[in-house]
Amino acid sequence: MSDEHQYTDAESAYFKWLWQWRRRTAIAQGLYEPATVLKGGRVLNVFSGELIEADVAVDAGVIAGVGQFPDARDVIDVRGMIVTPSFIDPHLHLESTLLWPPELARAVVPHGTGAIIADPHEIANVAGLPGVESLRAATQGLPLDIRYTAPSCVPASPLESPGASFELHDIEAMLAWPDTLALGELMNFPGVLAADPEIGARIWVSNGQPRDGHAPGLRGPKLQAYAGAGMHSDHESFELGEARDKLRAGLVIMMRQGSSEKNLLDLLPLVDDETWPRITFCSDDRDCHDLTEYGHVDDILRTAIRSGLDPVRAIRMATWNPARHWRMDGIGAVAPGYRANLVALTNLESVSVEHTFHNGRLVASGGELLASLPPTTIPDFLRHSVNVA
Ligand SMILES: [Zn+2]
Repeated sequence: MSDEHQYTDAESAYFKWLWQWRRRTAIAQGLYEPATVLKGGRVLNVFSGELIEADVAVDAGVIAGVGQFPDARDVIDVRGMIVTPSFIDPHLHLESTLLWPPELARAVVPHGTGAIIADPHEIANVAGLPGVESLRAATQGLPLDIRYTAPSCVPASPLESPGASFELHDIEAMLAWPDTLALGELMNFPGVLAADPEIGARIWVSNGQPRDGHAPGLRGPKLQAYAGAGMHSDHESFELGEARDKLRAGLVIMMRQGSSEKNLLDLLPLVDDETWPRITFCSDDRDCHDLTEYGHVDDILRTAIRSGLDPVRAIRMATWNPARHWRMDGIGAVAPGYRANLVALTNLESVSVEHTFHNGRLVASGGELLASLPPTTIPDFLRHSVNVA
C-alpha cells in the first residue's frame, strides 16, 4: 500500500481553483504576466455604459483585469476595435435552425454569439427526454455556452399526436441539470388562466428558478393572472402596448426577431432610460439560411441600431441583461472575475465582429471558426423520425 496521499476530486478542484485565483490576483496588480492580453482597444463597460481605452488581461479563461498590461505570453492586437462581452440569445429553439449543434456553432460563433439558452421542446415532442439528452450531449465541448430551459408544454396541445411526451418527472429530471436555467416557455396560457393543477405542478417543481412565459395577446386581468401565476419573461408581444403592459406586470421583455416572427421594430419604442434594463432580444426561431446569410444576435443588434437604438445600450441589452435575467453568473460583462467570453468589433454601429473569444480562447476570426469541433454523431433513434404521408 502506498503512503502517498490521494487527493479527492473536490480537493483537486480546489487546488486548481486556488492556483488560478492566486495567479489572477497577482496579474491584476501587475506582478505576474497573464496568458493573454487583448491590447490597445476600447472596452465597452456594461455597468457604466462607457467605452474605455484599456487592455484586457486574461488567464485560465477568466478576465484578470482591465487596465494597462504591457506584456503577456500571447498579445492580441485590438487597436481600433471595441471589446464587448460575447452576445447571448436568451431564447432559441436549436431544432428550428435545422443544424446539429456543432454546425450551429460553426454558423454563429463567428457572428459573436457566446451563449444560447435553448428550449428543446421540438425534439422533446419527437423523442422525449432521451432526445433532449442526445441534443445536450452534442453541445459538449463547443466553443459557446448552450444552456437549457426545460420544456413545460409537450405536447403543446392535447389535440396533437406527438412522438413522445414530456411529463412532470422529465421536467424535474431536467431542472436538476446544472445547465438547465429555467422552466421553458409556458405556452399553455389557457391552462394557467384556468389554474389547471397540472400546470400548478409544473410551477411548483420549478420554484426558485425563473420561468419563461409565452402569452401572445394577453393584457388586462388575464395578463395579471398569468404573470402572477409565476412567470418571469415573455417573447410573444406583437404590439407595443402589449409589451408595455407585460413589462409593467414584471415580465422581462424579449423582443423577438426570428426567421418567421419579427417583432423588433414594433416593440423598439418601448426602450427608454427607465425600461431598458428589463428588455433584451431573442430569435426564438432562426433558420440556417438567415444565420449564415445575415447573422444571429449581431444581425438583430444591427437592425435595432439602424432604427435608432444607441449601440452601447443595444449591446448591454444583448449581454448583461440576458445574463442577469437567466442568473448566469460570470458572463455578460468585461470585468475582472468574469469569464473571457468576448468579441472584438471593428465597428460599433455596424456590429462588425472581427474576433470571438470563448473562455479566453480565440475561437473565430474574420468570419471563420478557428476552434475545432468535437466529433459527434446523430443517434440512430433520432433518424427516420420524420414521416411524410
Ligand atoms: Zn419559443
